[in-house]
Amino acid sequence: MIIVMKRDAGEAAVAAVIAKLESIGSEGHVSKGQYRTVIGALGDREAIHQVPWEAIDGVERAVPVLNSYKFVSREFQPEDTVIEVRGVPIGRADEFVVVAGPCAVESREQLFRTAEAVRCSGARVLRGDAFKPRTSPYSFQGLGEAALELLDEARAEFDMPFVAEVLDPRDVELVSSYADILRVGTRNMSNYTLLQEVGRQPKPVQLKRGFTATLQEWLNAAEYIFKEGNHQIIMVERGIRTFETAARNTLDITAVPLLKQMAHLPVMVDPSHAGGKRQLVAPLARAAAAVGADGIMVDVHPEPETALVDGEQALLLEDFDEMMKAVTAVAVAVGRST
Ligand code: PEP
Ligand code: MN
Repeated sequence: MIIVMKRDAGEAAVAAVIAKLESIGSEGHVSKGQYRTVIGALGDREAIHQVPWEAIDGVERAVPVLNSYKFVSREFQPEDTVIEVRGVPIGRADEFVVVAGPCAVESREQLFRTAEAVRCSGARVLRGDAFKPRTSPYSFQGLGEAALELLDEARAEFDMPFVAEVLDPRDVELVSSYADILRVGTRNMSNYTLLQEVGRQPKPVQLKRGFTATLQEWLNAAEYIFKEGNHQIIMVERGIRTFETAARNTLDITAVPLLKQMAHLPVMVDPSHAGGKRQLVAPLARAAAAVGADGIMVDVHPEPETALVDGEQALLLEDFDEMMKAVTAVAVAVGRST
């Protein structure tokens, strides 16, 4: 059961609900968001159902939810969550938001050339990482805070919010002090300490799907963030590992409509990390728009042959412009503008 408190309900009303739950041998998990407080009730279902929750002071409604992911489920919140990032609405049924930029920030020139070009072609959010999760410990690991400073400058210059990955719970405060959106990458989807930490800071979080994660596991990861009080979560499908080796991953396009039915959170697709090859990015991006995603996130590099990370999947600036035109046409066909 989820107990949704009224907007004006105070601490005392929340404490009374918790006390009531405890009196019947159950427990309450409080998630205090920006707009409202919600309480997840765990314990004996029968006993919880017997309480006339909606008659208790400060309670707006009580919603029975059977899934282990409760707060993020559609049952709990039938309407879509829309996340406003510096005026860009993510999750609105009539918008398709394109996030683009380099996989990693490598230099000022590389970042600024890319940001200017993608902005001009119609991207609304910039990507660029300061910390990179690399398979080899000897590969380029990112420029760290210097990259965040460059992103901060690029945001001002091109009037674009930016998203950056955070790998380590110890860096959450640092990344959160610069970025408009924090990203938890595929390798960290099950890093519960990191999920809790990003759940305790105020910036929206992009949560990538673990490459071996089921939708249930992915939604439970989102629940970790939500439960800590951060209700602004964007799910990103980025391909999963299957028996197929022809592409870097297999884009699970089915996940998009399924997630939309199971949860109320915005869903994006990353066609770059899914396909892993430049020539697959545009077709997968069009598929994402057609299947009902709320946006895409795309790797772009002015000189991919010199890229320190993921050059083979980065679009050239002119490829990106072409892709934007094609994706916009598909988005318009399904009632969304880019
Ligand atoms: C990325 O977006 O740069 C990234 C590392 O992606 P993933 O976590 O999906 O591999
Ligand atoms: Mn990458």
